[in-house]
Amino acid sequence: MKKIYLSKAKNQIARHNTIRDINKQVVLNYVRVQSPISRAEISRETSLQRSTVSAIVDELQGIGLIEEIGTGDSTGGRKPTLLQLRTGTPVAIGVDITPRETTVVLADLAGNILRKEAFPTSSDIDYMNEQILSKVSCYASENTGHELEVGMSIPGIADQASGNILYIPYFQWSDWDIGRRITEATGLPVIIDNDANAVALAELWFGDPEIRRTRNFIMVMVAEGIGTGIVIDGQVYRGEYGAAGEFGHMYIGNNAAVICSCGRRDCWEAHASEKAVLSRYNAGRNGSGGGTAITNFEHLIGLAENGEKQAVGILKETAEYLGIGISNLLIGFSPQAVVVCGSIVRAWNIINNELQDYGKRSIRQELAGAMILPSTLGDSPTILGSVTLVLAQKFASAN
Ligand SMILES: [Zn+2]
Repeated sequence: MKKIYLSKAKNQIARHNTIRDINKQVVLNYVRVQSPISRAEISRETSLQRSTVSAIVDELQGIGLIEEIGTGDSTGGRKPTLLQLRTGTPVAIGVDITPRETTVVLADLAGNILRKEAFPTSSDIDYMNEQILSKVSCYASENTGHELEVGMSIPGIADQASGNILYIPYFQWSDWDIGRRITEATGLPVIIDNDANAVALAELWFGDPEIRRTRNFIMVMVAEGIGTGIVIDGQVYRGEYGAAGEFGHMYIGNNAAVICSCGRRDCWEAHASEKAVLSRYNAGRNGSGGGTAITNFEHLIGLAENGEKQAVGILKETAEYLGIGISNLLIGFSPQAVVVCGSIVRAWNIINNELQDYGKRSIRQELAGAMILPSTLGDSPTILGSVTLVLAQKFASAN
């Protein structure tokens, strides 16, 4: 039960169509999760009257969210018409900014990527404005018949009300009004969020079925840095300014091999991010006579998969550091699950035992332990994150 704040109460008074909105949302989510499904099955599952379901289905078809896909087996009378989410039709433009690369994609309602273009992220903000605006405008003008919205995932914090990016530490960019610029250029609404929040949302809607069923979980994204997204009661906890979840900067130990993006050597990120792993690996190789330094994290994972002792050792050591941080999160939040995201997931068979051991050591002896799972979102979770910022809104409000 949520506390009612009087300052917000006028927005919370139930509108006359609230029940209808909720039913619409329920029907859309039945189609999303259980398709192919018939009107009769939805009616049976939800106990909504058949006529109510039919009216809602007509409406959802009318706004292009679901479609008919032929007939199913009859249980006596006429063969039922089956429904599914309308795929192949663009509904979202995703803009994913990472320190290395910026990707602009076009996606359908199921999160399928229909088109994709990428360019190296530049520290020149004028170039970034020009590139992003031209690519988003191009997708928008090619799809004028569709109701598109833009979702944007950034390695920083954003003010969702104004659509402004408040700060991206990696490039020291502040008060970047890219959201307003996109809306002015295309007329499309824009929603911007921190990359870890966006990926947590993607896990909630498109992740492993085990995670989608979980109401309380924490997503740990291992990349250039470490980001965490906190999901409480089926919602991303954003905190003020969307700045919650900066556990990459919690204290883990002293004198890490690399300096954290915040300038310290004692943060989680300085011990367990991709750059920390590469730095320790290269330092070890120099110590034992050399070879050229490895700068690509996937390369290191490949070496470990082929059984190179040093690479396996470094990843197991990294699992210890990750495990310490995850253990702290388990103690503080008592979630049902922690999902680990990023390329490191490919080495799950190497890091799994260490992570599970740390999970078991957290002080919850009397309670069921939390699951620690690898993400199923693949190597570019932030791309799906940017798209999910748009899609989640559609499934949550169905209009
Ligand atoms: Zn730090």
